[in-house]
Order: sequence, then C-alpha cells, then structure tokens
Amino acid sequence: MPYSYRGFKAYTAEKMGAAGLLIYSDPKDDGFVKGEVFPDGPWGPVGHIQRGAITYDFLVPGDPLTPGWASVEGARRLPEADAISVPHIMSVPIKARDAREILRALQGPVAPEDWRGALDVPYRIGPGPARVHLKLDVPRPMTKIVDVTARIRGREEPDDIVLLGNHRDAWVFGGVDPSSGTATMLELARALGRLVQDGWRPRRTIVLADWDAEEFALTGSTEWGEQHLEELRQHLVAYLNVDSSTSGSSFSATASGCLARLIEETIDDVADPATGRSIRDVWKKGRRGGGATALASGAGVVAPIGSGSDHTVFLNLVGAPALDMTFDGDYGVYHSAYDDYYWMTHFGDPGLRYMTAMAEVWGRMAMRAAAADVLPLDYQAYGRQIGWLLGQIDTLVPLGEVRRAAKDFSKAGRSVRKIQGHPSRIERMSAEDRARLNQALMSAERALCDPNGLPDRPWFKHLVYACRYTYAALLFPGLTEAVEQGNVAGATQRADLLAGALRRSARTLRR
Ligand SMILES: [Zn+2]
Repeated sequence: MPYSYRGFKAYTAEKMGAAGLLIYSDPKDDGFVKGEVFPDGPWGPVGHIQRGAITYDFLVPGDPLTPGWASVEGARRLPEADAISVPHIMSVPIKARDAREILRALQGPVAPEDWRGALDVPYRIGPGPARVHLKLDVPRPMTKIVDVTARIRGREEPDDIVLLGNHRDAWVFGGVDPSSGTATMLELARALGRLVQDGWRPRRTIVLADWDAEEFALTGSTEWGEQHLEELRQHLVAYLNVDSSTSGSSFSATASGCLARLIEETIDDVADPATGRSIRDVWKKGRRGGGATALASGAGVVAPIGSGSDHTVFLNLVGAPALDMTFDGDYGVYHSAYDDYYWMTHFGDPGLRYMTAMAEVWGRMAMRAAAADVLPLDYQAYGRQIGWLLGQIDTLVPLGEVRRAAKDFSKAGRSVRKIQGHPSRIERMSAEDRARLNQALMSAERALCDPNGLPDRPWFKHLVYACRYTYAALLFPGLTEAVEQGNVAGATQRADLLAGALRRSARTLRR
C-alpha cells in the first residue's frame, strides 16, 4: 500500500500547531502516474477521496473512552478531554482535483523534491497567501457496534482456540477492504459447516469472528479482546487475520516468527489460480533478493508484523502468535467510492479466483492449527528471525546479552522442533506430556511480553513487534525507540528487558 497512516499526519499536524488538516492522495502515489485510472484501470482518478480514521490508535486502539478495558454496557468511560487517541484538530479528506486549486494558490518556497507530487502545480509550501475556510459538522453519537462470532467446538481440547477474524464495516462499498475478506470468510464458514455436517470435529475449538468498527480505531476486535483477555491469554493458540483478502495475485503475509513455517507449508499445498503452481513457488520467485527476512525454510519470506488491522489486540495485548495475509496488486482506490464490485471483477480479481484460493489457505491453516497433536508453532525459525533482525537495527548500547539470549531462545526452539518434526516421537508421548508441550508453545509467545508495556504506550505489551506511529512494523519497539532518541540509559534498560524476555521464553520451551 503506497500510504502512510492518515492518523500520523493528524498527529504530526496537531503537534506542529496546525489549526486543521486537509488530506488528499496525490496521483504520484495512487493515480495516473501509476497507470490507467478507474474505470479504465485499477488506479485512482483525480476525483477519488481516501476516507479513513485519523485516530491515534498507535497510542492505544479501540474505543478512545475505554483504553485498556472493554467498552460494554455500563463500562467506566473517560471524559473525551482525557482520551489520548482522539485528535484535537479538524481534519477532512479531499480530492486531488480540489487540492490542486489550493496548491495553485500557495506561494512561498518550493517543497523539497520528494514532497512534490504529480499535479501540474509547483508545490509551494506557503504560508498563504491563500486562505481556507474550514467548517466541519461531524456528529459524534455513542453508537452500538456488533461483533459476530461462530464456533466449532473442539472434540479433545475444547478450551483451546484457533481464532480467525475479518472486519465487516467499510468506508463505502469496500469491494477490496474488507468485502473481499468478508466474502472469503463466509465461503470458508460454509465449507467448514459442511465438514461439521459430515461429522468432522477439530481437536481444538475454531472461532470465526466478524468484527465491526475496524475502520474506527480497530474497535470491534480490540474491545472483544479486552473483554475476553484472561481466557485468550490462557487459551488462544493463534490469531489468523484476513482484512482485504484480494486486490491482486501476489501473496503477502506478515506474522509473528513462530507462524512462518505454518504459512509456508500451507501455501505450498494450495495452487496459484493463474499458474497452477503452488502459491509458495510463485511467492518465492517474486521475493527473491528483496532484502527479505529468511525464515523457516531459509528461502521463504514472511515479513515482521505491524498494525493496521484486527490482529493488533491479539498480538500486542494478549501476546498470542498472530498473522495477517492478503493477495496484493495494483490498487489505487483504497477507501474510496471506486473500491466496488466493478473494480474487483475487472481489475482486482476477475473470476474471484484469488478470493477462493485465500479461503483454501485460511481454512487449511486453521484446520492444521486446530487438529495438530503438537501445535505447529516453530520457535527455531522465530529465533533465527530475531537473531537476523537484531543484526539489522542500529545499536547505541552493547547488545551482546540480547544476542546471547536470542541464541538461547533459538536453541530451545530447536530442541522443541526436533520433537515437532518427528511424528513417531509425538506418538510415544503421554497425553499429559503433549498437553504440557502445547501449553509451553502457547506460553512462549506470551513470555515475550512485558506486563508494563512500552514506555510511552503501556497498552502494547509485546517486546519484539509493535507498530510505528503508522501501520508499519516496529521491531524491538522499546529498545529501537530509545536508540532513535539517543537515550543510552533507556536503551540499556530496554535491552535488559528484551534479553530477560527471550530467556524467559526459552525457559518456558525447555520446561
Ligand atoms: Zn480493512
């Protein structure tokens, strides 16, 4: 996606003292510079508007008046003035065509090269002499939202949950975002329902969740996660998110490192609709040499997970393994009125074949995780990813102890992997030992969390993955932020915490 998160623009504008904010999408990013525009092609016409929340959900997502606790009937609510995720300046999205008129009327210095877009204006940055009269009338009612969940009760371990989620609310028609994902989930629900009718039951419980109000600060999933926090901390095996399932044909996944192998093995079993080869084959080809993170197989590529969708609460507050996946493509109408059925059937996924492939990927993944005797969470690959990532970050303080802890974590992962890779060893285990091993595999990701959270964002507990003040992944968040601020004492303290978490997680696996 060629965009930063709008909320970061609002946050920056507010901090810089702006009175209001007009946001437009420049054709350089998603319009005629990229190719044919709607209705002749997939890119955005100069008249499209990218709607979207500007709340500061990178500080804390969900209902801004109930940060950290569930927004249910009768819940305690903050006064709005105390809600840190609510912007305090006006903001409205406009068309590039209208932005052009304002830009044309600006004087002052010309913007630096990489700020300039593709409109036929000189991109001067003002101030003035043009003046804008901005008057917004935005109703702010308290509204009820509805999450819908469906569950297939597990036969042997019904308390343990494999959770699949997609959101239902859209800015306009939401052809891609999220209706492609919603259609995929409904088809998958139908297929799983058929299996259940035929007598099939998974070992563990599978829950399908249809979230409301994702577009408003990830609210449906966040509040549900907060409401069921204790149960999820104990029993959530993994959260598998599909937001937009399809805007093209390139598979892409971001995940917690322990899910990389499950992703790779699953997409190896599903055919790419266009070529008939496995999705993994096509995916590896496209990614070769892209500065990517080598994971389970050493060849595949699963990028570290950030935010921007409903997995956030399950990864960052619950501390469970989480992933987010999509089929990507040329897509310039995001959150606009042109993201519709016509767009999808002409450009995004004619024949809806990739949506179907996603239902297969998602379903197989869920069935594996719900059926496996030993959970398919690979901490050896995770350790390898962490080791590699530690080599990529800037260092302000010595990271020897963190590196040693990461090695220890990897080693513990390797010894578990030795069992996971050998069905005969698993068969010889007693039911109690198997249950203990599965418990450890779930707890190992939780152990990478700090109950106090990040220094400036206590809601975010995970010490390996968080988001920047956008959707982008931020690795080793507390540490990286301290390093970027040149804060030696902070970086030392965060490095110690990270090393401690890795050791704790390794101990959990060894047990
Ligand atoms: Zn979405």
